[in-house]
Amino acid sequence: MAVEQQVEGPAWTGFGLEESAGRYPLRVETAVSRIVDQLLPGVITTTRHARMYCLHALAWAEAQERGLDEQAAKELVRRGEVVICAVHHFHERHRIELSSAHGEDRLPRFLDGDRLDVRSAAQLGGLSESGFAGVYQGPCVRIGALSSQTPPRLGPRADLPALREGLGELFDLAGHDTLDGDQLRAAGHLCLCEAADAADGRWLRRILVEDAEEGWPDDRNRQLTCLLLLDTLHDQASPDPVRAFRERWAFGGPLGNPASDQRAMVAAMWRAAALRNYSVGAWRALWRWLAQQLNMNPMTAEDLGDQLAESLDDIGVAELITGLPARMDGEVILPAEAQIADDDWTTMNAIRQLALGAARLNDLEGETLKAFIGTDRTDLGPRWVADLFDGGHDRMVPGLSRDLAVVLVRRAKRVALSKMYITRSGRPFVPTRLRDRDGILSVWGEEGAGDVALRTGTLSGVLAGLGVLTVDDAGRYLPSELGEELRAHLG
Ligand SMILES: [Zn+2]
Repeated sequence: MAVEQQVEGPAWTGFGLEESAGRYPLRVETAVSRIVDQLLPGVITTTRHARMYCLHALAWAEAQERGLDEQAAKELVRRGEVVICAVHHFHERHRIELSSAHGEDRLPRFLDGDRLDVRSAAQLGGLSESGFAGVYQGPCVRIGALSSQTPPRLGPRADLPALREGLGELFDLAGHDTLDGDQLRAAGHLCLCEAADAADGRWLRRILVEDAEEGWPDDRNRQLTCLLLLDTLHDQASPDPVRAFRERWAFGGPLGNPASDQRAMVAAMWRAAALRNYSVGAWRALWRWLAQQLNMNPMTAEDLGDQLAESLDDIGVAELITGLPARMDGEVILPAEAQIADDDWTTMNAIRQLALGAARLNDLEGETLKAFIGTDRTDLGPRWVADLFDGGHDRMVPGLSRDLAVVLVRRAKRVALSKMYITRSGRPFVPTRLRDRDGILSVWGEEGAGDVALRTGTLSGVLAGLGVLTVDDAGRYLPSELGEELRAHLG
């Protein structure tokens, strides 16, 4: 019996499917995520709020000191999350507008007028399915705020007195089963927006950006990444720091000498990640389109290839390549990728974006080139694409892409099988949306698309929470006074 058949039925709705099925169906993201992880350790795409690092560090320390068992410790953590969420919700004048608190959309379920049912909200499946410790624990360990034990203990860089001074009161409130609006409104200084001037926020700012500690080599990378973001927004305040950062470092002139200048090295790595990410995004979006066809209409891989071919312009590969936007002006990298990304999405533009990625092999050099290529030769990287187009130089784009669809289907199956595991009920489970029944492919649900985040969105949020970035009346992010001081100090 084929494995695909064994995963039919209830297992489809089982544990972990949502997380594991749609996220990396082609596994083309590793080259980018590896660089980003190295340059921005301790910040991930879900760590929106600076003060939540402090909250989690303090919560586990409190649990330890109170001698709570694991269940009770986790409940205490969730109670802290509930209270800070409600404080944010009731805070009348935020120091700065941040994104919503974790779980804030579900908060009204636990409000009766302005009375909050802390106890119910903190239960599993209350404000969240199982709390946000899973989001912040890894990042907190990475920056030394927590240890990697289970349950976590205070880490080597944690400053318990500072955490208590800033947020201790929050855990007094968290001990209540209900809190009324007046209590929550009076706790505005505990809000997510108030970390910048509080002892816990000052501590976090120090370990996250201000001081690169000896024995913590990651610190310097994160620090310089913050500097690059500050420089970007100093030159040009932007309502979209993610895009501003991406385009500032992906394109432009030479970045200095990575061998002698650490900032230049970090910038070179970001250039590699940002450029490579355009190709990653193109693969992901192309796969999503293919999956949509299979979702609407089950068919063979070959028929799917025909559909892709029909959606493309009937031009030759050589013509495709000469028709790409201009890539270089002397030594300056032109924003060709951004130009294609700004056009309406079509399968043709995805293919053009991939061809552009392959052409960049001729434009980049040194460390940037090396990081851009990555270490995995089989991850559909720019070299793989260059080989594909070189080999098919005399072919038409639709014909070449017809074969490509078949390759992608095979790859998606292989990736899914490599993630197979045995469920608690003893059945093999393959986390995939793709099914194959006697060669007829179908897809359940919708694949995720979009680039792998470079995490600058959450970094901007965290730095705003720490008072390093501010937002002007036009909604543009820029360095605060503190941010400008930091620039001078880090530069
Ligand atoms: Zn606030």
